[in-house]
Amino acid sequence: MKSATSFDWETVLDRLSAFYGTGDWRVPYLRDHAEDPFQVLIGTILSQRTRDANTDRASALLFARYPTAERLARAPLPSIERLIRSTGFYHVKARVIRACARTLLAQYGGRVPSTLEELVALPGVGPKTANCVLVFGYGVPAMPVDTHVHRIANRFAVVKTRTPEATELALRATVPREFWIPINPLLVQHGQNLCRPRNPLCSRCPLEELCPTGVARRLGRPTPRPEDRLPPAKPGRGSNSAPARRSVPAGPLSPPSILVSAPVGRAGHGSK
Ligand code: SF4
Repeated sequence: MKSATSFDWETVLDRLSAFYGTGDWRVPYLRDHAEDPFQVLIGTILSQRTRDANTDRASALLFARYPTAERLARAPLPSIERLIRSTGFYHVKARVIRACARTLLAQYGGRVPSTLEELVALPGVGPKTANCVLVFGYGVPAMPVDTHVHRIANRFAVVKTRTPEATELALRATVPREFWIPINPLLVQHGQNLCRPRNPLCSRCPLEELCPTGVARRLGRPTPRPEDRLPPAKPGRGSNSAPARRSVPAGPLSPPSILVSAPVGRAGHGSK
């Protein structure tokens, strides 16, 4: 994996935050219930391989009926399936979330654990879901990496990895801890809108001059060269690196008109 010690996360995240305004990936229902780690956990499992709107609809229906691990653990499967049908794969998801609720009840008295090791031992919970619970359920710095974060980190050339799991390890080793909470929602939002899997909209991106892929594409090259890499970070906060500079003057950014004209026709946070 490539070192990212000179990457200016502060400038990059500042620009994305200004561009998108909120940086909060969560669908409205989960955003309003973020204080409940149980609902964050189950909602994140539901969000796998579906769109945010479907997760939102299913979460609202499910938690109105079964708001706690105790209630969900005792729910009949057909009832759960009916409530979460909009998310797809609802037969499997219903079994998984009920098994997860039963494990919470049996092992933790219905509470959601707050360590990565305990979370990934729960049924249906992988590293990304566990990290989401830590960040969005408990406000604990963690590094949820889905396909968006994985793809964009590679386009930034701060990692050179083949899987989200490898990207998580690389980012945990190099990203200053103060950015662990905002990095996921901002990169997910960017991946859902401009930095799409195919044909990223680099010419509209607030990071074009900072991103090796954006620089390369502007110069007509399919892939970045070493000279396209980001300049070193400025000294102090947000970087592990030696003194450096900003390459692009800070300033107000245009409103993200693409969000207004073509909002979020996207897969959910947990997709893929
Ligand atoms: S410049 Fe292009 S590749 Fe780089 S972050 Fe922006 S949209 Fe993604």
